[in-house]
Amino acid sequence: MTALVLGHKNPDTDSIVSALAAANLYKGRGLDVTPVAQGEPAPETAFVLKTFGLKAPEVVTSVAGKEVYLVDYSDLAQAPADFKDAKLLGIIDHHKLGDVTSDTPVECWIQPVGCSNTVIKKLHDYFNVSIDKALAGAMLCAILSDTVLFKSPTCTEDDKKAASELAALAGVEDMQKLGMDMFKAKSNLEGATPRELIFRDFKDFDMSGHKVGIGQLELTSLDLVTPELKSALQSELQKVKTEGRHTAILVLTDVMAEGSELLCVSENASLINEALKPDTKMWMPGVMSRKKQVVPPLEAVFKA
Ligand code: MG
Ligand code: MG
Ligand code: MG
Repeated sequence: MTALVLGHKNPDTDSIVSALAAANLYKGRGLDVTPVAQGEPAPETAFVLKTFGLKAPEVVTSVAGKEVYLVDYSDLAQAPADFKDAKLLGIIDHHKLGDVTSDTPVECWIQPVGCSNTVIKKLHDYFNVSIDKALAGAMLCAILSDTVLFKSPTCTEDDKKAASELAALAGVEDMQKLGMDMFKAKSNLEGATPRELIFRDFKDFDMSGHKVGIGQLELTSLDLVTPELKSALQSELQKVKTEGRHTAILVLTDVMAEGSELLCVSENASLINEALKPDTKMWMPGVMSRKKQVVPPLEAVFKA
């Protein structure tokens, strides 16, 4: 039976490219695996796949009875609904440890670095498996995306080292230009509904028994979000909250200004403000990372 290599819901570039790259790693070790994804590529990922001539993994939303390797998460909330009926074989990730569990020993490679593809690059070196030019380019883009061109506080020296080695393999001379082209593709808000924009990069978290959903849009400029669009996003967020959530948040990140604006609908807005400390314009200077700068302070106030 082929084992599935599966990234998280509302897949981002790291999640989709991790499935491709981890499948390359496992195949190189003689394992029978197939990369899959829980959704179609978002505009940024579509740009990356097109640039390097790669095909998007097949979309899979049910894993009952299957063997599964997870990439880029270990939270049940980000897995398919029937994940409990699958057999977990392994995890490669760079997030906080989630709540998946297993009946048998699993192969886990989890490190506090900026991108799952950084871990996967190191594993290719460790197991002596080669990476072709196209895959190297896509892995490089995943690192540039997750670390926001190395500017995110999640970025480590390991990410920079992996990126430059991948750039050499891919024949990419100007990483910053490739990264900016990618973020321009990501900043395309045309033709998407407010709901699609909120869910483009969205994660639900269980915070001390409260469901908190957090979306993030990383843009080259917040000027792209017109006042009309902002109020449409705000009213859609209201709906998203009523779908069983204590809080629905959209983080609008300005990649160039290096900060984020907070849109939030909550049962307890003052609690959220206490955690994230936005200024009077809801601006949060220096906030780039949901994982490191948004989720931990929220979890802390929910725990208190
Ligand atoms: Mg991800
Ligand atoms: Mg990631
Ligand atoms: Mg991200």
